[in-house]
Amino acid sequence: MTPKIKYLVCNLKANKLKEEMIEYERELKNIKVKEDTKLIVCPSFIYLYMFQNENYDLGSQDVSEYTEGAHTGEITASQLQSMGVKYALVGHSERRETFKEEEKTIINKIKKSYHSHVKPIYFIGENELEKNNNQTKKVLKQQLKNIIDEVPDYKREKLIIVYEPIWAIGSGETPDNSLIRNRIQCIKDFNKGVYELNLPVLYGGSVNGDNVDELLKIDNLDGFVIGGSSHNIEELKEIYNKI
Ligand code: PEP
Repeated sequence: MTPKIKYLVCNLKANKLKEEMIEYERELKNIKVKEDTKLIVCPSFIYLYMFQNENYDLGSQDVSEYTEGAHTGEITASQLQSMGVKYALVGHSERRETFKEEEKTIINKIKKSYHSHVKPIYFIGENELEKNNNQTKKVLKQQLKNIIDEVPDYKREKLIIVYEPIWAIGSGETPDNSLIRNRIQCIKDFNKGVYELNLPVLYGGSVNGDNVDELLKIDNLDGFVIGGSSHNIEELKEIYNKI
């Protein structure tokens, strides 16, 4: 059975110069929209102003943990909201690792997002060592608990969860379907069992035009996050058309 894919999130990361981005957006807005699948594009902050079209939704790759004020270099959730941003990526492994972002910061970012009606897209996933030590399920549950416990009940159902095994990001190595299905089910069962929540769970990590057909056989998936393959507009179109 093909799953009902509700989200395709494009994480453009720190890529493209201004003219390239203008061209990219021109192509993107011509994509034939699917009613049931949200296409969410997350460019760098400086390019958000270019992405103002109803064919897709706008997301940011990060959000400040602070509110307006003397925080040089920060971009707040309310500023993002004023630019039409509806979603914010939070807890991406690149931010956790490179920028040493800790759970406390991630929680603050999620709270600030909610406050400005920006929906958080929360990333969880195990690293290679945790996988090899059979720690994956424990790590995933802890990452979920750390956040959900801190979010007021009535806002919890707005969370979108992304399962990204860190070892699969940008590596060209995708786990096999049974592993992804099993992890996604573990996340869904935990959310349901402990919090009575039916949250969407997306998969990210080296999804591309060649492997998406195979990944679409995973019946409990709600969507994908694509990094590398979203940078090429033709590949993005190919993936979007297949789902
Ligand atoms: C990501 O970094 O969120 C991601 C999914 O990257 P890639 O598709 O390049 O593995």
